[in-house]
Amino acid sequence: MGMGGQKEKVVCSSCGRPDEIEFRNSVDVSASPELKEKVKSGELFVWTCPECGNANLLNLPFLYHDPAERLMLLLTSAPVRSEELPEGYTGRIVRSIGELIEKINIFDSGLDDVVIEMCKYVTRHELGKDVRLKFFRLGGADSEMTFTYPESGQMQMVATGFNVYEDCAGIVNRNPDMKKAARGLVAVDPDWISRFFA
Ligand SMILES: [Zn+2]
Repeated sequence: MGMGGQKEKVVCSSCGRPDEIEFRNSVDVSASPELKEKVKSGELFVWTCPECGNANLLNLPFLYHDPAERLMLLLTSAPVRSEELPEGYTGRIVRSIGELIEKINIFDSGLDDVVIEMCKYVTRHELGKDVRLKFFRLGGADSEMTFTYPESGQMQMVATGFNVYEDCAGIVNRNPDMKKAARGLVAVDPDWISRFFA
C-alpha cells in the first residue's frame, strides 16, 4: 500500500452517483498529527456526495501508522496473511472504521488491547447480554473504563472499575499462549479472545 493519496472510484449510497475521489489510504500520524484527529473523528472516511449531499462512509483499505507508539493498524475486509513487523511493533487488523477508532482509543489511553478484550468478555458476561462492546474511554476519579454497545437502535454505556483491568492483566500475563498469539499482524477482537475460553 502506497503512502498518501490514491484515486478511488466511489458510488453514492443514496442517489447512486458515481465519482472518482482522492483517498488517503495511509497515515503516518507522527508526520501528520492533524490527520490523526480526522481519523479519530471519522472525518477522513466520509465523502459527501456533490449531487445529493449524502455523507457516505468510505469502506476502503487503510493503514494507520504511529512510529512513536510502534503501532500499525490495518483496516481491511480482505484476508491478510501474517506479515513481519518491524522490531517491537504491535500490529492489528481491524474490520471496520469503528474498530479502528476503538484501537486508537485503547492505545492512546496507554492500555493493552488484549487485556481490554478480556475486560470486554468479562463485562459482557456480567451484563448478561449478547452484545459487542467497544472500549470508549478511561477516565474519572476512579479510572473507570467505559464501554459502549448498541441496543434498540441506541448507543448504551457500561462502566467497569479499573480493578477489572488489573485482574485481567494478571490473567493475560500468566498466559504465554495468549501473548504469543497477539504477536505479528493479528485481529485481536471478541472472536479472538473467545478462543481462549472455549
Ligand atoms: Zn448522492
